[in-house]
Amino acid sequence: MSSILQCMECAQQYPIQRVIYTCESCGGLLDVNHDFGAIGKTLTRDLFDGRLGAFESPYNSGVWRYKELVLPGVDDRAVVSRMEGNTNLYELPRIAAYAGIDTIFLKHEGENPTGSFKDRGMTTGVTQAKALGMARVACASTGNTSASMASYAARAGMQGIIFLQNQQIALGKLAQGIAFGATCLQINADFDRNMELVQEVSERLGIYVLNSVNPFRLEGQKSIMFEALQQLRWRAPDWIVAPGGNLGNSSAFGKGLREMFEVGLIDRMPRLAIVQAEGANPLYRHFRAGFKDFKPVKAETIATAIKIGNPVNLQKAIRTLEWTSGLVEEVSDQQIMDAKAMIDGVGIGCEPASACSVAGAKKLVERGIIKRGDTVLGLLTGHVLKDPEATIGYHADQLDGISPKYRNRMLQADDDIDEIVRLLQ
Ligand SMILES: *Cc1c(COP(=O)(O)O)cnc(C)c1O
Ligand SMILES: [Zn+2]
Repeated sequence: MSSILQCMECAQQYPIQRVIYTCESCGGLLDVNHDFGAIGKTLTRDLFDGRLGAFESPYNSGVWRYKELVLPGVDDRAVVSRMEGNTNLYELPRIAAYAGIDTIFLKHEGENPTGSFKDRGMTTGVTQAKALGMARVACASTGNTSASMASYAARAGMQGIIFLQNQQIALGKLAQGIAFGATCLQINADFDRNMELVQEVSERLGIYVLNSVNPFRLEGQKSIMFEALQQLRWRAPDWIVAPGGNLGNSSAFGKGLREMFEVGLIDRMPRLAIVQAEGANPLYRHFRAGFKDFKPVKAETIATAIKIGNPVNLQKAIRTLEWTSGLVEEVSDQQIMDAKAMIDGVGIGCEPASACSVAGAKKLVERGIIKRGDTVLGLLTGHVLKDPEATIGYHADQLDGISPKYRNRMLQADDDIDEIVRLLQ
């Protein structure tokens, strides 16, 4: 079975052994396309259900369980995996009530090995880097990509190099990059500029770029959809709601859903709602303007994972919106942090960016677009421990411009039994 790199704009093809991220003739983004032709019929629900509970590599991974749809040509022994994926799908009535609907499922991608969905793209990206014989890999990152890349590079015996924006890296993420032994470069520039820098420096030094401009990352991230739909017993929900930053996930979801539909794993396409922070909403603006004259924005939001003003995967995300009859919504930092407090409060927890899913669903219900009886699948993209400062700042009422609606106030007492009893009465 063969795979090929193909330009999404002009259809120019390149062999997958080429180290190339955009089209040489038109600059368009590349897809890794697989020819399902002969084996399409064998990719059945039963095949993938039969691999559930596998103990051995590669099918014990929630990415490689769907190997034929992800990277069919890879030798099983060459796979660099941390048994990523296999994340839980929670049905949460209290969150549904908060959003104003009957049913919501939240798939918690923060339960991946390094605490975010990035591991799903990193297992395929690093596996490809290894197949290409790369010794060094690099990424620009708001934090989670670097945490994930540092881990997988270490597993594969490669040097990971991460370009960190100098401000607002969540502590949990920074700690991981350093702990996993990556070379950490704090650069005095925002994410969007770092994205340009990493591509130029890597080209000069022959380093492999593992940002989501790398199409092999997106092949792994498609598995979020495969696994979620398998957990829903292959019944497509009405809506899928997910945060959008660099738009790698949005892009991967469209491709994955379409391929699932193509080979008959699902009977209909769900609609995708991409949710951005008001202060980092370039896709939202572009969507509202009918996709005319894209303008990057200067990004600012407490949800640092989506603090991106010039998303690399813009064109693929627009394609996804077409394929899924999708739409784009925006939410304020206040709405993000309140929704996060709700998700945290039911005992699940997530990092700020993830809460866009619930905040966005709630807003779309209020606007009458999502209906009460619709089934909604929301994505929680990162773990609650990634950004402890945001969580504690919220509950201590120390975040600029945010007044915590669901505050869990910390109590303090002296070594005095009567006082403690009084406090707890
Ligand atoms: C990377 C990330 C996002 C944004 O995903 P994109 O694919 O860049 O749109 C959202 N939430 C978390 C926690 C992330 O790590
Ligand atoms: Zn092209």
